Amino acid sequence: MEHKLPELPWAKDALAPHISAETIDYHYGKHHNAYVTKLNAGIEGTEYAEMSLEDIIKKAKGGLFNNAAQVWNHTFYWNCLAPNAGGAATGAVADKINAKWGSFDKFKEEFTNSAATNFGSGWTWLVEKGGDLEIMNTDDADTPLAHGIKALMTIDVWEHAYYVDYRNARPNYIEAFWNLVNWDFVNSNL
Ligand code: MN
Repeated sequence: MEHKLPELPWAKDALAPHISAETIDYHYGKHHNAYVTKLNAGIEGTEYAEMSLEDIIKKAKGGLFNNAAQVWNHTFYWNCLAPNAGGAATGAVADKINAKWGSFDKFKEEFTNSAATNFGSGWTWLVEKGGDLEIMNTDDADTPLAHGIKALMTIDVWEHAYYVDYRNARPNYIEAFWNLVNWDFVNSNL
């Protein structure tokens, strides 16, 4: 079963000025695409060849896990973003955020701090664990899915996600991220 690079849910220049078309060209067109290519090469002729992406992530180790998880993580990330989105959370997720953190601003502050201090390459997630929301950092390709934890939202904090637009200033990229969060998608993951 050949894994495919999914279509983006918006035009590649639609997230500007927060995330440029040039960033999307590299991040989606080069990085995400390379993970798909390496995943397909890695499963060929192996026990993983006919497995779903999710099953590969739950079973594989090493390089194959890294490529499979990065394919899934990036598709999830693109869906977390949208033009004319962002602002405070909406719907059931907003209620759960308020129940856990007291206010959206307090949640935003803690998530921002977690993403800013996530050392090296990784991802920062809003997850649901036992009905409760939590903020979770993962390293490199690691993903909540591999731990049986349900992901609701993520931000990619690998340098390739922001270096074109913000150079080394990860906090500026995180601030821009809040203008793009697709709360409808986040709610659909509950
Ligand atoms: Mn990335």
